[in-house]
Formats: sequence, C-alpha cells, structure tokens
Amino acid sequence: MAGTGLAAAPLFSALSASAQAQQPVSPIGIGPFNVRAYGVSGVKAPFAPIQIQRRAVGPKDVLIDILYCGICHSDVHTVRGDWGSSTFPRVPGHEIVGRVVAVGNAVTKFRVGDIAGVGCMVDSCGECENCLADREQVCLKGTTFTYDAPDKVSGGVTYGGYSERVVVTEHFAIRIPPGMDLAATAPLLCAGVTTFSPMQHWRLQPGQRVGVIGLGGLGHVAVKLAAAHRADVTIFTTSPGKLADAQRLGAREAVLSTDQAAMARLASHFDLLISTVPYSFKMQPFMDLLKLDGTLVNVGLLLNLDGTELSGMSLGFGRKSVAGSMIGGIAETQEVIDYCAARNITADIELIRPEQITQAYERVVNKDVRYRFVIDFASSRQA
Ligand SMILES: [Zn+2]
Ligand SMILES: [Zn+2]
Repeated sequence: MAGTGLAAAPLFSALSASAQAQQPVSPIGIGPFNVRAYGVSGVKAPFAPIQIQRRAVGPKDVLIDILYCGICHSDVHTVRGDWGSSTFPRVPGHEIVGRVVAVGNAVTKFRVGDIAGVGCMVDSCGECENCLADREQVCLKGTTFTYDAPDKVSGGVTYGGYSERVVVTEHFAIRIPPGMDLAATAPLLCAGVTTFSPMQHWRLQPGQRVGVIGLGGLGHVAVKLAAAHRADVTIFTTSPGKLADAQRLGAREAVLSTDQAAMARLASHFDLLISTVPYSFKMQPFMDLLKLDGTLVNVGLLLNLDGTELSGMSLGFGRKSVAGSMIGGIAETQEVIDYCAARNITADIELIRPEQITQAYERVVNKDVRYRFVIDFASSRQA
C-alpha cells in the first residue's frame, strides 16, 4: 500500500498540446508514466481528455495499448455516483481489448504483439478460499476492480479502459484468440462473462427454457450465449422497437413485459430467468413465469432490491429461487472468450470516437443503442 507518488501527482489536468505529444519512452523499470484518458471531474461533468498515471511495468505485468473499450451500464452508474463513491476524476471502462506492447521479465502468458483483454478486475489476493477457487471477483480480502477501486499496488484508485494504455498483472489479462473481431469482442469481457457465468453455475442444458429480461448490452449477449447452449430462449423487453431482433439474436420470441396476455401465457414456463435490468423493477410478475424449482438470477441490478415486490408465498409454493451473480472469475472469463471464439459469437456494437462518450451515455440511458457502444482508440491513435 506504500504510496508511489501517484496520490500527490496532479492527476486531473486538461491535456495540453505538449502532453499529447509526450510518449513514454520505455515504461519498463522507469517508474510510473502518464497516459491520455477520458474521465469526468465530477458527478455531472462531461467526459474530457485528462492525464492519468499508470504504474511502471513490474516483473509480472503487461503493458497494453488499448484498441477498444466497451461502455457498460456499470460505467454509467459509476460516473453518475449511483454507487456512492466520491473519488474524482473517474475513468471508467472494463471491457478492454488491446495489444501487448511490453512485458515484465517474469511474464509467461503473453508476448509482445499478442492481443489481450482486461475485464472487470485487475487484482485480488490470490490466496483466499475464493481466489483459490478461481472466484477472484469475490476475493475475501477485496477484489481490485478495474476502475474506481482502491489500488493496492500503486495507491490511489484504479483507472479503467477509457484510456490509451493500461498496466495489469498478467493473471488478470485474458488471451484473445486470433481471428476475433476485436471491437465486437470487447463487450464479452464484462457482458459476456456476466451472463455466461450463471448459465454455467445453474448448468443450463439443451432444450431448457430460458428467459432473458432486458435486451440491452448484457441481454443481447445473454440471448446469443443461451442460444449457443441450445436452450429455448425468450426475450422480455419494454422496447417495442427491439422485438424484431429476437430471431436474429437466436431467441424463439420476444415479449413485451407489459403485454399481460403474453405474460399469462408463459406462466410456470421457465427453468431459468436471467435479469439484466440495471434498475429496480417489479420482479414478481417474472417469478410467476418460473416452473417449480426455477431460478431467477439477477445480474443487472447491483443496487438494493426495494420495489421488486417479491412474494414469499410464490417463492415457497414454487420452491423458486431468486439468486444473484456478479461477473465471473478470470478462468471463467477466459472460458467465455474461448467459447465465443469457437462459435463466432460477438456483441452487436456501435463504434464511437472518444469525443463522443458523453453523447453515448445519454443514449445508453435512453436505451438508444443496439446493443453496445465501443470506444475506438485504434483509429484515433493512428490519426
Ligand atoms: Zn460491465
Ligand atoms: Zn482473495
């Protein structure tokens, strides 16, 4: 936890022309270095170019030139202060794909030139029961998440992937197999593993009936992954304009959750429901759609469950479960990437330039994205 000068450095400053031209010579062994990032200086501030410090590349670290970074709804929650943290500037982004440009001398997993991904976390203790079970996302000593988390290596807080470069321990970098569409793969680092993990944990079988609640960034990947498991998939959305996408994504049908006749028709129908809705909503109408012993897994709502109006009677009579799941471990993140590479599964994305992040956030909040924004750092670096 020793300070490295990071906390004392002027972290947030408008990027001058000279700073833009400044490039780290060789970050290995020469101490922390500055990179350009896009961050916010306060809860209501727009995104602006800033400089942040990355730590020196240590023996087990890789330095990644970021090519693409997805915009997750968690980024929006964080920037808007929904999760209560008050540290600024904030640089979100945990769906990172880039090229390895330097490796520490003890690195074995990557070579310079490899394509690597970074998902929702960058460190954990590696020794606790959960870490030893490949569940670093719930490290008992505290997972270091990719942004807005206390950084146990450098001090200060972590900064995410809305930036040009990141330094990460090789264990927390994911190998991206050759041939993948890199921009459309980026969202799998969060949206992919978040929806894949419950399918593995609840042992989704071919032919089982799965409902995906909410058709956004997570939801549309959940549909593709459930269809790849040869499940019988139904989408629940509140957006009439999205109904037509159901079959293309691999679902049998899409249902407007406000359509009471359709909801009644599907009562006691599903083995598994995966809710990707990122805000509080009435869950009980969906609990009524579960079969005996069915489970609704909430992956979208990490705030409290007030307003969900769950009925204990309904849970008891159907022996139903409400469960939660949050991302997945590193091994599982690698597994979903390999699973998707083998089946040619990627996210449906809209590429944006870094200058368009603020606009993109408005569109995420207004559900006006099909289905994930990805920030293109590759083109802006070339330009
Ligand atoms: Zn995310
Ligand atoms: Zn641990």
